[in-house]
Amino acid sequence: MSLRVLTAELLHESNSFNSSPTRLKDFEDRSLLFGEEAISVRANCNTEIAGFLDVAREHGWSVTHVLSAHAQPSGRVTREAYEALVAPIIAAATAATNGDGGGPLNGILLALHGAMLVEDSDDGEGELLMRLRKVVGLELPIAITLDPHCNCSQTMCDLSQIIVAYKTYPHVDMRITARQAAQVLHKTMTRADCRPFTFKAWRPLLEEINGGRTDAGDMLPRIVKARQYEEEMNDVYAVSVNGGFANADIKDVGPTILVTCDRSAQEVDEGRSFARHVSFAAELADDMWRCRFAPLNVYLTVEEAASRCKAHCNAAAAAVAQAVSSSSSSSSSSSSSSSSPSSSSSLPIVVADYADNPGSFKSLQTHIRKLHAYKNTLKHDTHTCTRKHRWRRFWGLNGAACITA
Ligand SMILES: [Zn+2]
Repeated sequence: MSLRVLTAELLHESNSFNSSPTRLKDFEDRSLLFGEEAISVRANCNTEIAGFLDVAREHGWSVTHVLSAHAQPSGRVTREAYEALVAPIIAAATAATNGDGGGPLNGILLALHGAMLVEDSDDGEGELLMRLRKVVGLELPIAITLDPHCNCSQTMCDLSQIIVAYKTYPHVDMRITARQAAQVLHKTMTRADCRPFTFKAWRPLLEEINGGRTDAGDMLPRIVKARQYEEEMNDVYAVSVNGGFANADIKDVGPTILVTCDRSAQEVDEGRSFARHVSFAAELADDMWRCRFAPLNVYLTVEEAASRCKAHCNAAAAAVAQAVSSSSSSSSSSSSSSSSPSSSSSLPIVVADYADNPGSFKSLQTHIRKLHAYKNTLKHDTHTCTRKHRWRRFWGLNGAACITA
């Protein structure tokens, strides 16, 4: 008989400094799909549900997919929207626990963000897990995936045995991450000697520590170490290095190291293996703490950015001209060609956000307008890092182009 697994995707990165609440319509506008429709739209993409289903096919699971809901980062989720999104998940878990549709559940897989705030709750994911546990009990294996810009609460760790976060930023490993979580879940569902649980290491840091990239800078060696540790330790299933999400005024804000390991690590050899895992997580967390004053990015004024772009365009135009000239001189038929490369002044300049979330809210345009109005009221220098961070935080700007006063 096949194993029965409940799946759902419910993701939101909530900025508590953003006064625009996230309503159900914001999920509908971005992505709110149920059951088979969600699968048909998302199962062939780089999504968590695609990774869950990869593993489901491999092991012949019977999957009940409830919903796939995702809204643009913005303010706290309204209680009304939260209830509308959580209710179908709880209802499906309740029905399955009661034996509807083919026997009790063997496990649950949830794709979450880890930074969802509700208008009257600082831990949207923790609340969802608490409600699920009331239905399915404390023993049923639950695996969750997170975005590394999560503010992982102790409740999340306590109520989901397995946690795996993406290892890339910009995020490109959603499907791979989901496969990893699902494989650990499968092992947990099928082997008595697989008893995972997750603990976290946290230091009182506020700002994200990835600097917008995971392929360069200080995050790269940390993630490499995490991967190596996962591979080397037989009783470790996942190590996640999370940058946190600083635009949230909550007690659980900040970077975390999450380790999903086996209970046996605490039981055999006087717990030496577990002590080693704790020490490894602390080592990574302490490294973040040591680097807390290291500059992550250089912020340019608009004029400086434009100047750099023009220099780049000039160099590109010169290279194109050189290539065309070389091509013309080597071709006997090219003398009649009238085409010429664009001059640098005619080339467009595009300045893009270095990350994947320009603004942490749903209407960057609206806020840029507010920003322009606000900057006109400023009398002080906004170039200092502290001031700039406060400014960005005030408007919920994160990674967007800097406009100087
Ligand atoms: Zn993220």
